[in-house]
Amino acid sequence: MSDDIPANLVRRTPWPASVSRAVGTPLQPSVVYVSQTPDQLDLQYQGQVKGYTYAREGHPNAEVLAAKIDALEGAAGGLIVGSGMAAVTAALMGLLSAGDHVIGGDQLYGRSLRLMAQDLGRFGIATSLADPTDVGAVAAAIRPETKMILVEVVSNPTLRVADLKGIAQLAKDRGILLAVDSTFSTPRACRPLEHGADIVIHSVTKLLAGHSDVTLGYVAARDGAHRKAIHDFAVTLGLTPSPFDCWLAERGLYSFHLRYDRAEENAARLADHLAGLAGVKRVLYPLRRDHPDHDRAADLLGRRGGNILSFELDGGRSAANALTRAMPDVAFAPTLGDVGTTLSHPATSSHRAMTPQARAALGISEGFFRVSVGVEDVGLLLRDFTAGVAAAQGA
Ligand SMILES: *Cc1c(COP(=O)(O)O)cnc(C)c1O
Repeated sequence: MSDDIPANLVRRTPWPASVSRAVGTPLQPSVVYVSQTPDQLDLQYQGQVKGYTYAREGHPNAEVLAAKIDALEGAAGGLIVGSGMAAVTAALMGLLSAGDHVIGGDQLYGRSLRLMAQDLGRFGIATSLADPTDVGAVAAAIRPETKMILVEVVSNPTLRVADLKGIAQLAKDRGILLAVDSTFSTPRACRPLEHGADIVIHSVTKLLAGHSDVTLGYVAARDGAHRKAIHDFAVTLGLTPSPFDCWLAERGLYSFHLRYDRAEENAARLADHLAGLAGVKRVLYPLRRDHPDHDRAADLLGRRGGNILSFELDGGRSAANALTRAMPDVAFAPTLGDVGTTLSHPATSSHRAMTPQARAALGISEGFFRVSVGVEDVGLLLRDFTAGVAAAQGA
């Protein structure tokens, strides 16, 4: 009979028993979890016994990943969310209310700037921007209703280094929360909670996951009540990450320290190499002596200059076009933190919405590139960039 189907076709088969265990982390895509009785479910919701209920509320792959990033940051109870922007949103909107004011760094990630400029105001949260390299400018932006300051440690794409210690002291003195988006510097170079930040945020999409195949974010707060507020808001808004993405990111994270160290070493070499090439007007790398924040970078980041540098070509758009054409093996793609080197052109991507004058004020011309240096053989990298700059000069 065609409807004589075995019970285990529809009903789940118990997981096969094994005296050996898997080396790899299991991937658990289940949306929902089975409890034994209503009494047990009650205890789960009361937090008296641990048990997952529904994946939007939490799942093991997110928890495993969060615990690893917690350990890197010296944090506890960090939350994984679906993107870096979900982490920024959860931190701001989970903790701020109508009538509050938040100060953002004036060179924040583009979408963070947009959240500040276009969205928070619709919910009654006032915003202003201030230069995070100048603690006096941040102090001047404080109002009686200021509840939070959001800064990035290293700015995109000019790699200015925030006065994190000064801002942390200011925030503490004035009873204001300090949230730090530490995506560029990573916990290898800077652990914001140790410098007095209340909240640390990452786009896990970038160096932590490191392979350009997942979009995820992380947010951790020092205070338990803040953690709960951020968590509840993220669950309510559905900012929850996919188990598969968490699983992939965890796999990437195992080699994070090795990738970071190698990429950073390559970046320092490439920065010096570019600075010596005819046709390169200037190179920005935090540990170079000619960087405007060199001393602060050395103090705050130690010898960790990071894997990102920027440089400016002599010549405009045609020189820029010639460069990307002459180095097809270096992905011309507007992201950072991939295992391989990627190149971005802020004037046509992250900073395209600005007027040329506003870009010029930041020093971002048509010849300006940002490089996220990868882990490839450094000789190969230097040859690629030599060829790219030579082609740009001939354009
Ligand atoms: C990429 C990035 C974000 C946003 O992360 P997504 O994972 O793309 O949402 C936020 N802040 C910084 C500094 C970033 O580089």
